[in-house]
Amino acid sequence: MSEVIGVVGAGTMGNGIAQVVARAGYRVVMRDVQDEFLERGLAAIEKSLQRDVEKERLAADEKDVIRGRIQATTSLEVLAEASIVIEAVTENLEVKTQVFRTLDQITPRETILASNTSSISITKLGAATSRADKVIGTHFMNPVPVMKLVEVIRGIATSDETYEKVRTLTEKLGKTALDCQDSPGFVSNRVLMPMINEAIFTLYEGVATRESIDGIMKLGMNHPMGPLTLADFIGLDVCLAILNVMHDGFGDPKYRPCPLLRRYVDAGWLGRKTGRGFYEY
Ligand code: NAD
Repeated sequence: MSEVIGVVGAGTMGNGIAQVVARAGYRVVMRDVQDEFLERGLAAIEKSLQRDVEKERLAADEKDVIRGRIQATTSLEVLAEASIVIEAVTENLEVKTQVFRTLDQITPRETILASNTSSISITKLGAATSRADKVIGTHFMNPVPVMKLVEVIRGIATSDETYEKVRTLTEKLGKTALDCQDSPGFVSNRVLMPMINEAIFTLYEGVATRESIDGIMKLGMNHPMGPLTLADFIGLDVCLAILNVMHDGFGDPKYRPCPLLRRYVDAGWLGRKTGRGFYEY
């Protein structure tokens, strides 16, 4: 039997991670809190694999094999079979801390507990467990099947052994791992989010329309996607959560989230996933 990798959370990132892990030949246990979220996650995986079949990047029978490697469940107990569990739940310290506490209780002592957090301290998550040496950050990029990078973040107590095992996994997934210190927003979001936030400020202040702001960054800076489109793609709640972590973590007003971003999140306009953000979908 092949090795089992656990994925906690079947949202945007969790289902993407489950897909690439299954595609690399591992068995996957994907856990979420409600069947409805699991079904949505499985449908996203199906759609993505089907697209690859249509583009002749994947054989139809291979698709079924990959799909067959993924077990979707609301139960926690099955995660005990996993050698590595990758957490991809909501970007909220309390929610993640609770998940790490639970994983620490239900998985064998040797299981590695990785987080896909965009900004939260890996050291803090490690401290919620009795195995901080086995806690590490594996920050995959969205969409996971397409993007090559995994930012690997060691907490203060992460062991060399944990780090090496995780690097080996990322290589098997066909990804490139780049290291970074445990600092709010790591490198990717510390550089990206202030740009997205500034784009939102230009919209808020009426400097330009959403189309102009995105067009200027696409045509002028050669970005594949404008910052407002990218924010909708990431999820406006996720963007706000990351900015809050950096604002609190550095105490520097340059990370303060734009009031317009807060207002959209308050309205439930979270971007693509809810059908409305800076654009309508
Ligand atoms: P999402 O809102 O799409 O999905 C989160 C999922 O976690 C939901 O399905 C929710 O039901 C589930 N969940 C919440 N509590 C849970 C629990 N206790 N057990 C199991 N499942 C639980 O969010 P997302 O965009 O997939 O983000 C997940 C993580 O990945 C966050 O830490 C985020 O910062 C990070 N991330 C997001 C992106 C992005 O572009 N969206 C990119 C890189 C990293």
